Formats: sequence, C-alpha cells, structure tokens
Amino acid sequence: MASGISFWDQVCANFDHAASFTDHDRNLLEQIKACNSVYRISFPLKRDDGSIRVITGWRAEHSHHRIPTKGGIRYSLMVNEDEVMALAALMTYKCAIVDVPFGGAKGGIRISRHDFSDGELERITRRYTFELVKKNFIGPGIDVPAPDFGTSAREMSWIADTYMSMNPELNGLACVTGKPVESGGIRGRNSATGRGVFFGVREACAVKEDMESAGLEPGLEGKRCVIQGLGNVGSFAARFLEEGGALIVGIAEREGAIHAPAGLDVEAVIAHRLETGSILGFPDAEDIRDSASALELDCDILVPAALENQITEENAPRIQARMVAEAANGPTTAAAEAILRERGIFVIPDFYLNSGGVIVSYFEWLKDLSHVRFGRMEKRFEERAYGRLVDAIEASTGRTFSEEEESTLAHGPEEADLVDSGLEETMVTSYAEIRALREVLGRDRVDLRTAALVDAINKIATSYNDLGIFP
Ligand code: NAD
Repeated sequence: MASGISFWDQVCANFDHAASFTDHDRNLLEQIKACNSVYRISFPLKRDDGSIRVITGWRAEHSHHRIPTKGGIRYSLMVNEDEVMALAALMTYKCAIVDVPFGGAKGGIRISRHDFSDGELERITRRYTFELVKKNFIGPGIDVPAPDFGTSAREMSWIADTYMSMNPELNGLACVTGKPVESGGIRGRNSATGRGVFFGVREACAVKEDMESAGLEPGLEGKRCVIQGLGNVGSFAARFLEEGGALIVGIAEREGAIHAPAGLDVEAVIAHRLETGSILGFPDAEDIRDSASALELDCDILVPAALENQITEENAPRIQARMVAEAANGPTTAAAEAILRERGIFVIPDFYLNSGGVIVSYFEWLKDLSHVRFGRMEKRFEERAYGRLVDAIEASTGRTFSEEEESTLAHGPEEADLVDSGLEETMVTSYAEIRALREVLGRDRVDLRTAALVDAINKIATSYNDLGIFP
C-alpha cells in the first residue's frame, strides 16, 4: 500500500480513468475490471532443521476472456492478495496490448527466497504446484505460470515436473513457461523482458515530438540511464540499453547503489556482484548507501526494474530523469504519476514496456504445443535459397564473397533469431498502435498509459462481444 491507496485500487483507478474515454456498456466495463478468481493456499513446510513453517501463497486469475490465463509467480515478503490481484489485472491488459491471446493471472508466495535453502525452495515450489493442480488452477489450457520476482527457470522446471507427474498428458510441458531450454523452454526467454524493455525505450526515443516535450533529444545514443534492480529484467535491460548506445550511469540494488557519470560497464558490474556479493565497491564508481536515493540521480532515463511503488508522491518531485521506463510492474504510484505528468516527465507504462516476457512465453507455449523447435523446418531450406542468391550475385557481378560474408548472407533462421524477430516486431507494432491511439484521443488529454489501457479495454470488449455475452 502506498499513499493510503492499495495497488489493486490504483490499477482500478487507472482503468476507470481510461474507461471514461470509451463508450462501452457499463456492465461490460465492470466485468473487464473484475478479478474473476483468487485462490489462497497455506501449507506446512518441513524445514531442513526439522522445524515446521506455514507457507502462504496465492494465485489470482483476473480474466478468462481468453484462455489460458497467464502470469508469473513471485517469491517476496510483500506478496498479498491485493498485490496478486493487481498484478493479474496488469497481465490481462498487457496481453491485450501486445495481442497475446491469454487472460491475465499472477501467483505469489509470501517468502524471501534468501531465507530458504535450495531444497526447501524446491519443496515449497512443488507443494504450491500440487495445490494449484488440485484446484484446477494450472494447465496448458487453464492457467500457465512463468518466472517473476524471486523465481527463475529452475522453479519453472520444478513446476513442470510436478504438474506432469500428476498429469502425464501430451501437452503437459506447456503448463508453465520460462523453463530451461533443455526442459522444453525456448531460446531467448530468459533475456526477453529486458530485451523488450530495450525495444520499447528505443521506440519511445525515436519519436521526436515526445522527446522534445520531455526536453530530450531524439535517439537512444548517449542517453544517461539509471537502473533499479539488477535481477533478470534489470540486468538484461541494462545490457541491451548499453549495447544500443545508452550510458548506464547508475545502478541500484538491495545493498546500495553505485554512480559513475562517465558510464558503468554493465557486464563488469554483474561479474563484480557475483564475485563480492554486492555492487558496492565497484572500481571508479561512487557508492551510495541509501539505495532508494539513486532514483533521484541526474540522468535522462530512469528504469525501475525491481518492485512496485518505488516512485511515490514523496520522491517524485525530486526525480531528475526526463523519462521513466517502467520495467518493473507498478513502480509508479498514481499520485506520483500525476506529479511526473505535471513536470513533463515522459512515462513508458509497465504493461507495454515489460511485456517481452509474456510475448516470448507465448512463443514457448506454442512451441510446447506444437512439439517442434522454431526454425527446424525452414532453416536449411532458406540457407540453400539464400546460397543460390549469393551464387547468382557472384556470377552476375564477378565479385567473390568471403566465407564469413557468405555465412552471414546465407544464414537461415534459428530459434533464437525467430524469437528475437517476433519480440521486436511485437514491441514495435504495439508501440506504434498505442501512440496512434493517443493521437486520436488527443495527446494533450491522455498519456501513454491511458492510451495503452484504452487499447486493451477495446480489444477485451471485442472479445466479450464476440462471445455474445454482452449485447
Ligand atoms: P528478480 O528477482 O530477478 O530481480 C529483482 C532484483 O531487484 C533483484 O536483483 C533484487 O535484489 C532487486 N531488488 C529487490 N529490492 C530492491 C530494492 N529495494 N532496490 C533495488 N533493488 C532491489 O525479478 P525480475 O524477474 O527481474 O522482476 C523485476 C520486476 O519486473 C518485477 O516487478 C516483476 O514483476 C517485473 N517483471 C518481470 C518479468 C520477468 O520475465 N521476469 C516480466 C515482466 C515483469
């Protein structure tokens, strides 16, 4: 809870605001907004030392206008019913915005993964999955979890294994995404959310009038970024932004933050943290003990990639960035956003910007259902066709390509290439769509978040209308 308004209430307030720009039936809007089902689970965990601890978790399925429902599972001490409902709703809107045919869901267990051994985490994950199976809250056509804060491919493979041992069915692997590649996962899923963040920021930076209204020059090159959270999303977003020409001038983690106006080498920071257990003490960077204050560093783009409610009414007036790229879910409270808007700071909303994970999860789900690796059918065929073209060019021009040039020119698509291409296409197209809708609604009247939500509401309303439920 921030500013006395819960996360769920904030999501609903944003929804109501966006809904006021549509003319859909009031009851239809109420149905789209409602969280359809929430399951709360408590079970005992026998700890390594023989003691017992009661573990509590949730799974919320926000909308079934499309099935399966889809959304991550997080392990965090902040998990509660309000949070999973809010995050499930964000998943519904996110899937609609990027045209991924799922309803939204979210799960969480109220633990800090740092407080448990690997064996205990495995027992918690498997028991949680067992409880979801018992209540029909998981399955390839029902509800498909994925990694989120505090979970990774490892937990997803435990979930898949538990599910399949209870449901030995042909499509069982599609019950969860974000699995290791060798266990039915897809190449590119691990980096997908961070890569999607990069594509989204790049698209936003390319629009001259949006950049000018925020007081920035168009283009990503040389933009100074501060990243909060060096986990899955933050570390890949930082790497890709750096690769795309941006300068990472600050990184904030749980233990503190580091600042280097001349730019940080992201890969070296990650290696330093792995080696020392902390980002602090990184050579040629200033240590900042109060991690949260790094959000207020002088920079162009602030990328919160850790948790919700990080930019609040309290710190929003001191944010120096001209653009906030919401890589995390719900990092900006509604009250803070009003302040940012007032100050002309451009916000790229979470349910668009961090959708890379669910986009590539969709590809993984399709792969598991089709039982074939993307690229397997066409790679060699296309390589031969490109090879013939290269030969024809050589014959007609008299030029001979080097082996390296030839292998680049005649490269047939592998799974990772197709995943990246599908991700980029979706991020680029969706950005253009919500921007165009913002223009129609009036760029002075609505921000990007509202335009994206109106887009989601329109698409979900169409689904309900197609089902013939609402007149
Ligand atoms: P993660 O657990 O891999 O990483 C989170 C990182 O944030 C960790 O390194 C943690 O130490 C750090 N952190 C925690 N508290 C912090 C604090 N107060 N200040 C600075 N850093 C702090 O989680 P993730 O998967 O990267 O998820 C991050 C955010 O992105 C969450 O909001 C999540 O819902 C959202 N998200 C994740 C995905 C995904 O594919 N993993 C997809 C969409 C959205």
